[in-house]
Amino acid sequence: ATAFESQEGMLVTDANNTILRVNKAFVSMTGYTSQEVVGKSPGVFRSGRHDADFYAHMWNILLQQGSWQGEIWNRRKDGVIYLQWLNITAVKSEQGVVTHYVGTMTDITQRKLAEEEIHALAFYDPLTGLPNRRLMLDRLRQALASSARHQKHGALMMLDLDNFKLLNDTRGHDMGDQLLVEVALRLQSAVRECDTVTRLGGDEFLVILEDLDASGFAAMQAETVGMKILSSLNAPYDLELQERQGQDPTYTHHCSASIGISLFSGQQVSTDELMKRADTAMYQAKAAGRNTLRFFDPEMQAVVNQRAVLEIQLRRAIDHDELVLFYQAQVNTQGKCVGVEALVRWNHPQRGLVAPGEFIGLAEETGLIVPLGHWVLARACAQLSRWSQDSATAGLTMAVNVSARQFRAAEFVDQVLAVVQETGIRTQRLKLELTESMLLESTDDIVGKMQTLRGHGIGFSLDDFGTGYSSLSYLKRLPIDQLKIDQSFVRDVLTDPNDASIAQTIIALAHSLDLAVIAEGVETQGQRLFLEERGCDLFQGYLFGRPVSIAELEGWLNQRKGLI
Ligand code: C2E
Ligand code: MG
Ligand code: MG
Repeated sequence: ATAFESQEGMLVTDANNTILRVNKAFVSMTGYTSQEVVGKSPGVFRSGRHDADFYAHMWNILLQQGSWQGEIWNRRKDGVIYLQWLNITAVKSEQGVVTHYVGTMTDITQRKLAEEEIHALAFYDPLTGLPNRRLMLDRLRQALASSARHQKHGALMMLDLDNFKLLNDTRGHDMGDQLLVEVALRLQSAVRECDTVTRLGGDEFLVILEDLDASGFAAMQAETVGMKILSSLNAPYDLELQERQGQDPTYTHHCSASIGISLFSGQQVSTDELMKRADTAMYQAKAAGRNTLRFFDPEMQAVVNQRAVLEIQLRRAIDHDELVLFYQAQVNTQGKCVGVEALVRWNHPQRGLVAPGEFIGLAEETGLIVPLGHWVLARACAQLSRWSQDSATAGLTMAVNVSARQFRAAEFVDQVLAVVQETGIRTQRLKLELTESMLLESTDDIVGKMQTLRGHGIGFSLDDFGTGYSSLSYLKRLPIDQLKIDQSFVRDVLTDPNDASIAQTIIALAHSLDLAVIAEGVETQGQRLFLEERGCDLFQGYLFGRPVSIAELEGWLNQRKGLI
């Protein structure tokens, strides 16, 4: 009797399945009193959710094996249907004849709900309800296996919304969420039932297309679906503004996406590799101007791989002191060296000296330009500081190239001032070279930084001048000291009348704005004379000297007493 009053509901029937007894836990689980059920069949608890086959199967096992257990939906007295874990055991006499059945049961509705919720959280994106990355990987593995089995082709599409961040930043995350939900719906209706749409996170979606035809056609089919997706995503979105009084409650948003597609057939590639390919193709689509799709192509991958290797090596180069500074002389009209420009080189362990053209762009893209630029600045200033000890070199100026991303970094000004402090240089000897094109971006921030540095005595030169599109009024606002005529105009200054008049105009412009002017890339006496006659103050180029190591430069300076 003690055992009978356990936490689990219990019910005993006779061999004819007539209820003899139930316990207290049963009463509270079902809502029926003992009197209400004794003498009846357990059939009164049926929910109607299981068909006759289910019960037939249950009895079959019970009779054959002597027990049955499993999940079963039953109905409480108040009508509510709940899920039960039921265990029925047949009690037999010594002769092996069934005399009773004993059922023990627990209400597992809550547990089931919790399990479902855990499943949903683990495999689905809560915002859009789409499968998440985890479930996607599983589906992709299945898709690869099934394509191998059935000789069918499939495609993986990586999709990224264009300029999504802008919406999020300017209109709030709530708007961003609304857009993502709508995009998810449109994606699902643009593909077939057998395809899988998943959300990878952020504004990235992934679509798995299965059962495409033989290879040539598979690409066409995938392209058709991709175009369909692009055009469906292009239709305007009516987003609801939250709590914006006095304004139109809806906001119409326009959006596009970039899609990268990688085809597969069989399991020749891993899921990882396939995702990487689709991702590479997606970036290609972005680079091609967005709102478009691109297929993965192996040549494109080779370039990406090369860059990846270069990036790893460059990262190491900065820490392992593989960078070196070369210096190129800048001379005045008397041919006297008045300063130098510091130009970085990479002393690559296998490739030898690598020119900056091969790695500055990559450093810009990856952000490595910030530590790299800092290294250059620190080295150049240390050199200036050494020169200041000797009267022969104390007057030299040092021009240091600063790239756009480096200049835009919030800590730039502080870093420059810290280096100045550490090395104790005279700031009037330091000149930062900015490119004209970078000044066109975010004006106020740039002007502010330039003014602060200028306040400390540091000068500015506008590199590659003439290749950007500076407006004259803008130039006047900037605290610049010098314009540097780009070498592309100097090269043909004697043969191309356009270049000649551009060079001449830049010189005149510099003078009228009270700026110094230097010509870079001067290779011949003819070029030098032409520029000098028109008022150019300073020159830099192979005619006077190539960029050289510090030892070589100092050798020259000594020999010629500064005259080159
Ligand atoms: P830039 O600042 O315009 O530098 C001038 C480039 O012209 C240098 O190339 C220089 O070697 C080359 N040059 C000088 N005289 C002549 C000449 O008479 N004829 C010809 N054909 N070329 C001449 P380099 O050293 O290969 O540097 C290329 C670019 O890389 C630089 O252009 C600059 O934009 C960038 N760079 C170099 N060092 C740094 C650095 O430390 N930081 C940053 N951010 N960029 C750098
Ligand atoms: Mg330069
Ligand atoms: Mg230049």
